[in-house]
Amino acid sequence: MRHLLDPFDFSVEELDDLLHLGQAIAADPAKYAHVCDGKVLATLFYEPSTRTRLSFTSAMMHLGGNVLGFSSANASSASKGETVADTIRVVSGYADIAAMRHPLEGAPMRAAMFSRIPVINAGDGGHQHPTQTLTDLMTILSRRGRLDHLRVGFCGDLKYGRTVHSLMHALSRYEGIEFVLISPEELRVPRHLIDSVVVPNNIPCTEVTSLEDAMPSLDILYMTRIQRERFADKLEYERLKNSYILDAEKMKLGKADMAVLHPLPRVNEITLDVDNDPRAAYFEQTQNGLYMRMALIMTLLGLAPTGPLADKPLAFLQGAEKYPDDPCQFRNCITRTEEGLIPLYVRSESGELRCAYCEHSKK
Ligand code: ASP
Repeated sequence: MRHLLDPFDFSVEELDDLLHLGQAIAADPAKYAHVCDGKVLATLFYEPSTRTRLSFTSAMMHLGGNVLGFSSANASSASKGETVADTIRVVSGYADIAAMRHPLEGAPMRAAMFSRIPVINAGDGGHQHPTQTLTDLMTILSRRGRLDHLRVGFCGDLKYGRTVHSLMHALSRYEGIEFVLISPEELRVPRHLIDSVVVPNNIPCTEVTSLEDAMPSLDILYMTRIQRERFADKLEYERLKNSYILDAEKMKLGKADMAVLHPLPRVNEITLDVDNDPRAAYFEQTQNGLYMRMALIMTLLGLAPTGPLADKPLAFLQGAEKYPDDPCQFRNCITRTEEGLIPLYVRSESGELRCAYCEHSKK
């Protein structure tokens, strides 16, 4: 059995197969209308979502399967204090596959440790959002015809933007990728991502504050929303919320074949006058999300034309060391609330210990 918790859970070859399947589904969705007849997807959403939850539901329906689940923590036994481990043990008896969104980082990892069915991370706090990455990769591929040799600019909230973290992970494995990280000083990409993704892969990477200066050289511009719900200090959010606004005027600085992506929802970081620019790819991106989630469900259930994936141990547990008396100090880590969880840490190449669930450094 396999899960999707982090883009690294799939090899580049497995990702290629998934992307090909997504493209095949996009070309002829009706052909796949009964692939998942009789199968059940559980959507376990402890945090609000429009696109992700609806696209998972729609994906399973388009494959002929059924869907059950909840769309907020209040509507689940989490409100009575049930652990993630117990919830997934119960759901494993009711469904064939589960997609989990949770405000605490590492919650889907915790679920996967106890699950008898494949678990998909549908977004955990500010950590990862690998199915958005599948959507992003399919969009980049369809716009640019390749996933390598691209200069990719990420703009906005790079600290809390989990879609950025997952896409950086995924792109780091392709040749000739360059990153331009455009953010205010306070919202820079977490250090652990630079240490674990950028440095070991020798990826040319610059951190800048000006979108205008970065624009002319970009092949892809990945805009993001400032993640209001993740700020401990609301005044800081107010101060930073208008940091970047992409409008038709700024678009004039971009290449003719640049593609603008955004995981949505947007607030004000892309003005409406950009929507009609042929380089705006964000609505096409949401549509691709449906096809890639169909491809993913088929693949994890062993129903893809390429057959079942080979079994693989959980990547985030590889080499993990137990520190029973030393819980992770990051305020949004699942280790802070989950009863019975033994804190686990993984040693990075530089020798530093990082929480296996949320990847923050051990204090
Ligand atoms: N929908 C994306 C997410 O769930 C992006 C966002 O919320 O800003 O992370």
